[in-house]
Amino acid sequence: MVSATDQSYNNSSSAGSALIELMDIVKVYSTAAGDFTALKGINLQVGRGEFVGIVGKSGSGKSTLLNMITGVDHLTSGEVIVRANGSPVSIHKMNEDAIAFWRGHNLGVVYQSFQLLPMLTLVENITLPMDLCGRFSQKQARGRALELLHLVEIEDHADKFPSQISGGQQQRVAIARALANDPSILVADEPTGSLDSVTSEHIFEVFEHLVSEQGKTIIMVTHDQTLAPRFTRTLEITDGELKALNGTEPERREEEMHEHGPA
Ligand code: ADP
Ligand code: MG
Repeated sequence: MVSATDQSYNNSSSAGSALIELMDIVKVYSTAAGDFTALKGINLQVGRGEFVGIVGKSGSGKSTLLNMITGVDHLTSGEVIVRANGSPVSIHKMNEDAIAFWRGHNLGVVYQSFQLLPMLTLVENITLPMDLCGRFSQKQARGRALELLHLVEIEDHADKFPSQISGGQQQRVAIARALANDPSILVADEPTGSLDSVTSEHIFEVFEHLVSEQGKTIIMVTHDQTLAPRFTRTLEITDGELKALNGTEPERREEEMHEHGPA
């Protein structure tokens, strides 16, 4: 099956250099009720320094798509290539241990429900992934965790437990945790989905800051249409199919790569 997006993928001059490349991703869930195709041949390229928003209704395939990029779930067919440190890595060709190791070094994930560990203090929630990854010594880890808490403006609460702070504050900590091992890529699954509009705005500004000041590349999925104009590029996912929101192709062209690249 060759679709218009397949062709534009093949013709794209940026193929082979994008930070993240999704090629014809298909995801079929097998359930007792039969097979369900959640992703129907997704093609996408994301360049360094982009803040890509993927907007879609509940059940459209947003979380499934992110799970294909993070490698926490298997794809049915297609390939995901990420060049986090220059050399291409085919995520789904690694075994589970190698994917987990790769993810720990290169990719931070932020969820709607924060998912902080309740029995650890905020600073310990951030040092934990550093201890597991081994990039920073235990001595460095606490100092770095405090720096990250400062970055998200919550260092005053460092030694509190998650239950002692608000949802918006917990999401700040979750972002700091996602940054613990200094990954170049952040992936966020409805990170503002359970926050009120004022708190959502503050969290969104943290992501914008990470793109503009820290050169991070972010892919965020959301059901919130009002965020669409805020991303450097916005796509829409409908029933497992991806299209650009403003009439352009989801794949990026060479000129756009330069426009959106870090200054
Ligand atoms: P979104 O994140 O946009 O709400 P999801 O990616 O979670 O959507 O789900 C997309 C579709 O795939 C939905 O119809 C959902 O019911 C289905 N789905 C998700 N996970 C599973 C699963 N583990 N088994 C079967 N179907 C699933
Ligand atoms: Mg979801």
